[in-house]
Amino acid sequence: IATLARSFNGMADSLQSQIKELADLSEMQQRFVSDVSHELRTPLTTIRLAGDVLYDQRASFPPATERTAELLHTQVERFELLLSDLLEISRYDAGSVQLESEPTNLVHLVQDTIEGMRSLGESKGTDLRLVAPGGHLDADVDPRRIRRILNNLIGNAIEHGEGKPVVVSVDSNAGAVALSVRDYGLGMTEAEVAHVFDRFWRADPSRRRTIGGTGLGLAISLEDATAHRGLLQVWSAPGQGSCFRLTLPRGTNGELVSSPLPLPP
Ligand code: ADP
Repeated sequence: IATLARSFNGMADSLQSQIKELADLSEMQQRFVSDVSHELRTPLTTIRLAGDVLYDQRASFPPATERTAELLHTQVERFELLLSDLLEISRYDAGSVQLESEPTNLVHLVQDTIEGMRSLGESKGTDLRLVAPGGHLDADVDPRRIRRILNNLIGNAIEHGEGKPVVVSVDSNAGAVALSVRDYGLGMTEAEVAHVFDRFWRADPSRRRTIGGTGLGLAISLEDATAHRGLLQVWSAPGQGSCFRLTLPRGTNGELVSSPLPLPP
């Protein structure tokens, strides 16, 4: 028994040191992503300023140079988006995100967000519709982060919605409020849905260059939802569209008082 105990102790020690090594590695990796993102910000700002000068004067350039100035402008914008998403992910990984929660009327927040997205919808021929109860529906949330989730879900619904209407709805029960974004577009297979919250994952990588996102939107939305002790669920079927549903607790103790609302068929 003594020999067995010694060998168990030895195994426990080695396991512990391996876990520590892995934790150190993961911390190093997190710090690396965060440091690189910070380091890239300064040169990117300089490129941005120079690019803006060229972009503002583009009408006076020959057509090929004008297109180059436009290309530089859009790519710098994408780069900035990618950097800010990377920084946000690294803040979540480091556990340094602090929610700035306040009592928020979610119906108004959803209405505002839809209004802000309407022109993007119109550019794709998409009608944005709201189904919400009248009056107040208050919850203690970080409004900036909830708005970011909605912007991302509505942006995706427009992007993959094939011009069909996008319906945003607000439901509630005693313990929870649910914000759903339903589109009737491309939809996804079960295998695709399984990866939808993975970092940098995209259903169709060949669309990468035509569609401007970073592939981090849903990963950040899931972090935002989890930080609120909420749920972010997805239902999708090829050719039938998708429904993303964010469920947030209403209770002051920050718990989901009842089970999550069911997803639509
Ligand atoms: P991005 O939009 O930048 O690609 P996201 O994390 O927001 O990154 O989404 C990841 C991928 O999930 C998208 O590229 C797309 O393939 C798929 N996806 C997200 N929302 C929808 C949707 N409403 N309909 C179909 N596919 C979607």
